[in-house]
Formats: sequence, C-alpha cells, structure tokens
Amino acid sequence: MTRVQKQIAIVTGAARGIGAAVARRLAADGFAVVINYASSSAEADALVETLERAGHTAIAVKADVSKAEDVRQMFDATEQKLGKVDVLVNNAGIMKVMPLAETSDGVFEQTFSINVQGTFNTLREAATRMNIGGRIVNFSTSVVGTNLPGYAIYAGTKAAVETFTRIFAKEMRGRNITVNAVAPGPIATDLFLTGKSDELIQQFTKAAPLERLGQPEDIANAVSFLAGPDGGWVNGQILRANGGLV
Ligand code: NAP
Repeated sequence: MTRVQKQIAIVTGAARGIGAAVARRLAADGFAVVINYASSSAEADALVETLERAGHTAIAVKADVSKAEDVRQMFDATEQKLGKVDVLVNNAGIMKVMPLAETSDGVFEQTFSINVQGTFNTLREAATRMNIGGRIVNFSTSVVGTNLPGYAIYAGTKAAVETFTRIFAKEMRGRNITVNAVAPGPIATDLFLTGKSDELIQQFTKAAPLERLGQPEDIANAVSFLAGPDGGWVNGQILRANGGLV
C-alpha cells in the first residue's frame, strides 16, 4: 500500500467547475487530492497531470456518487493509493431549472439521487472511515434563501443537504470532525450558465451588492478556510458565499 505524508482530501465532481477549483486550491494548500469524476474522465486526467507537474499529489477516481457501491470503492481506492481521508468535499451536483409542475419523475429522481443520496452516501462512508480531526464540506446553494421560481426541486435537495450538515455535525461528536456547508450564489460554471440568455446572466450578475458573478475560486477560498487550520472552530454551519445576495 502506498501512503503519502500529506493529509488527504476527496473532492467529488472535481474534474470541472467549482470542484476543479477546489481541488487546485486544496492541492496548493498541501493536501493530496482525489479528483472524483462521473463522466469527465479526460478532464480528470488532465487535472491530475497539471497538479503533478506543479509538484502536488493527485489521483483521479471514477465514481457515481449516487451509487453507494461506487462511493465505497472510491474510499477503498483512496485508502489503497494514498491513505485514510482527512477532508471530504461533497461538491458533485446537478441543477435543472423548471417549474415544479413541469418537472418529470425522472428529473426529480435524478436530482435527489445525485444531490441528496450522493451526499448521504459519502457522509455514511466518511462516518466510519475518516481520520479523527477531519473536515467535511457539503454543497448547498443560496437559492435556499432566495427561493426563486423554477428552483423548487433543486433547492429542495440542497435544503436536505443543509439539514444533513447540521445534524451530522452533532453525530460526529467524539471524533473531532467538523461538518459545514458552503451555499454559493451564482458562479460562472456550466451549471449556472447553460441555457441562460445574456440578459438573464446580466440580471444575476447585478443581483448581489458586489455586482459580479462569483468565480469558482471564490468558492474554493471558502472551502479552503473550512478545510484548513483557521476553520477549525466552525462546525455545523452553512456559509453563504454569494457577494451579499441573500
Ligand atoms: P458543474 O460545472 O455543472 O459541475 C458539476 C460537477 O458535478 C461535475 O464535475 C460533474 O462530474 C459532477 N457530477 C455530476 N453528477 C455526478 C455524479 N453522479 N457523481 C459524481 N460527480 C457528479 O457545476 P458547478 O457549478 O461546479 O457546481 C458544483 C456544486 O456547486 C454543485 O453541488 C452545485 O449545486 C453547487 N452550486 C453551484 C452554483 C453555481 O452557480 N454554479 C451555485 C450554487 C451551488 P462529471 O463531469 O464527471 O459528470
């Protein structure tokens, strides 16, 4: 079994978007990083290569977070190749924007299975397999606060994640593991930009008092704080990183 001296961080959905920025930031912070992906295999390999070229430690591990067996195997692969996990970032997620009345059973099930069951699967595994003193960062959304029409199913999944966060933080008593969530506002990634007109993007851009779209690095900074030495006394909290939107 290969073991590294560094602390180990799993970032789900880390091949692209916010997850990739989080992986880059945690690698720069000194973590050995697991780049989890579901379908973006080429992007995951490219990110591993970039991080290794910069002198960091990274591996890519394929797992659909909505499948408990995939998640078990991701923890197995991490332990075999790097060691026990210190940080888990539950970034993987999907969003389909449409009125509740127009939402199909399929979209409802897929959104809950990735966003909610995916988070449940990794938390359950982490409960017994993470190192004492570990950090967990879940992903919510500021739409839980803005309650925009069209976001009922998506925001519903993230409201569940927020509740998991608060309760799981208490269930980790005795293991010195913190559990928090970041709740971004609009961030310039595929998830936010896809399907929106320039005009709508402009509206979102101006909505927060800081009057810009968030960048993946803005969220990576918040995750780095919660996962790093300065965030150790923050536990069971939801951090809305959104330029003051709500
Ligand atoms: P994105 O650019 O669409 O990327 C989504 C990521 O999730 C991809 O890496 C994707 O991996 C991964 N993923 C999807 N289904 C998966 C599955 N079943 N198993 C494993 N990975 C899976 O989205 P993003 O904007 O970076 O969003 C990241 C997180 O931030 C999400 O939880 C999202 O809800 C939250 N968020 C985003 C915004 C925003 O405005 N962008 C705002 C608030 C909250 P593959 O490519 O390998 O499939």
